[in-house]
Amino acid sequence: MTDVKFKRLALIGIGLIGSSIARAARQHGLADEIVCAARTDETRRVALDLKIVDAAYENPVDAVRGADLVIFCTPVGTYETIAKAIAPALAKGAIVTDVGSVKGAVIKAIGPHMPDHIDFIPGHPVAGTENSGPAAGFAELFIGRWCILTPTKDAGEGAIARLSAFWTAMGSKVDTMDAEHHDLVLAITSHIPHLIAYNIVGTADDLEDVTQSEVIKYSAGGFRDFTRIAASDPTMWRDVFLYNKDAVLEMLGRFTEDLAQLQRAIRWEDGDMLFKTFSRTRAFRRQIIDAGQETAAPDFGRVHPGDDSAGKP
Ligand code: NAP
Repeated sequence: MTDVKFKRLALIGIGLIGSSIARAARQHGLADEIVCAARTDETRRVALDLKIVDAAYENPVDAVRGADLVIFCTPVGTYETIAKAIAPALAKGAIVTDVGSVKGAVIKAIGPHMPDHIDFIPGHPVAGTENSGPAAGFAELFIGRWCILTPTKDAGEGAIARLSAFWTAMGSKVDTMDAEHHDLVLAITSHIPHLIAYNIVGTADDLEDVTQSEVIKYSAGGFRDFTRIAASDPTMWRDVFLYNKDAVLEMLGRFTEDLAQLQRAIRWEDGDMLFKTFSRTRAFRRQIIDAGQETAAPDFGRVHPGDDSAGKP
């Protein structure tokens, strides 16, 4: 059986994702020692107060010393600088991975700086919320959610199996694919939806003939669900679009063509076309519920008084 227990887990960054890993790893006894690096005093203090790490360092180099599992949990734009800094301090045989939402750019940012005596295996847990910081994490975040690993050909099979076992122990289902494919799939399933949400909320904010108080008052008509996604961390999402530019632009091209067709159908009162499209998309949602990636509870899974069937936010 694959040994899933690590001696020292070093989390570089301890926000929503890093702190959720710390909590889940502790709950399932996956590391003897859990340490983190964070840039601000406040984040380090909160992580220590919450008792989710044994030590918190300002310098990532101090966190990775002696670590057999190192996970980058900072915004993707920080990876290259951190990789260069920690490379000389990485222990022989360590597994180095990350949680970044894009993968091709991450391989380019970290890969060239990694020494031969470690295994570098990029990863992406497809799980999250719109909240940030160490207090926002929770141990159950990864349960039933996919974690995608995009190992390069240099990574050892044993290390891939160990990292897969680590994610599985935290409740994830693990898939492997190449980085380019990951970036294309996530462009349509995650990145474009976020762009649409940022755009629609931005448009509403700019409207002159409809007041902001009316937008807020009548937001239950659909708008508020976009505002949840549009409240996601600006730094993280800026980096996602800058570092997955090609795949996002490709998918955005497809999206705008399809949008233009819907626009045309409305202009020419083509009810059949609209009805067919909306029926197809309704069936699609059923598949997502059947795959266990969404609850069937009405109103977008919101928890209502007396209703305990809805999922986490
Ligand atoms: P977060 O809650 O904002 O936490 C970010 C962490 O990175 C904090 O500890 C922060 O430290 C640190 N950090 C930020 N800028 C830094 C810099 N320039 N140098 C050093 N440390 C820095 O972010 P998150 O949501 O956990 O996201 C982290 C990673 O997970 C990102 O790469 C993102 O793509 C990926 N991811 C996110 C989600 C999601 O839904 N949020 C889902 C899957 C993957 P301070 O607090 O001290 O500034």
